[in-house]
Amino acid sequence: MLTGQNTVGYTEQKAAVNNIRFQNIKILVDKIANADAILVGAAAGMSAACGYNFFYQNDEIFEKYLGEFGRKYGYRGAFNGFYYRYPSPEAHWAFLARMGYMEYECETGKPYYDLMELIKDRNYHIMTTNQDFQFTRVVPDEKLSAIQGDSRYFQCSRRCHDEIYYNKEMIYAMNDTIDENLCIPSEMIPRCPKCGAEMEPWVRGYTFLEGKKYKDEYRKINEFLEENKEKKILFLELGVGRMTPMFIQEPFWNLTYSLPQAYYITINPKDAILPQALSGKGISIKEDIASVLRDAVILVRSETEEK
Ligand SMILES: [Zn+2]
Repeated sequence: MLTGQNTVGYTEQKAAVNNIRFQNIKILVDKIANADAILVGAAAGMSAACGYNFFYQNDEIFEKYLGEFGRKYGYRGAFNGFYYRYPSPEAHWAFLARMGYMEYECETGKPYYDLMELIKDRNYHIMTTNQDFQFTRVVPDEKLSAIQGDSRYFQCSRRCHDEIYYNKEMIYAMNDTIDENLCIPSEMIPRCPKCGAEMEPWVRGYTFLEGKKYKDEYRKINEFLEENKEKKILFLELGVGRMTPMFIQEPFWNLTYSLPQAYYITINPKDAILPQALSGKGISIKEDIASVLRDAVILVRSETEEK
């Protein structure tokens, strides 16, 4: 049973937490408003914030699209499905077709729209390790760099030539032919037009094609950095976990440390880390990304109304 004293203590604690939370969101909004340039780095936590947890868990969406695969082969989450060793190429491609179909059918989540409302009129660039192409529906191509690939494309699995192929029509056609054994017909398996090898999704892996499209993604980031590195530049990190810090998190830390006017904000419910060396040049917001972005939008709207 709660005593009166505990209740007061709890209320005070809650007020203090809310106060820190509000201050952090205020800093986020002010830094976005006052930055000359914003480089956003978004990873898996951003899509998880949309309620899409099918990558690592059997959530409702996984059940809807991939549930029968999960039950047949005994894995959880699309990640494990992707790396599962299927008994045949026909079974493997049935999974890839259904997973691709799921990604095309999943609408871009609200946190992406909230982020864009916050930065759309600013000088920004976005880099992402996400391969689920949610950003592509809300960000113009020249302002987006998908540095770990983009599952809307196939490449030759032998990397025999430097070309990637938009796959929506192939994915939908393959998905339509998945039979009761969860296989597609052999003749539906996409093959390289040059060498005849199987294609594969253009995403980070042992045979990931780092050709002209890949280099172009980094060219866009580097041009943005070159133009803005001496200015007030904000590095905004969203949902980067500790598994692959080398792609976004460590470069953001190093750049914030070395650039004179840089500032760093990381939002992540689990892994929001501010290195000691960056104290005074950044904050970490250890909270749900969706609710922080939503409240930042509400704050901006209320401040705009006051003016
Ligand atoms: Zn080939």
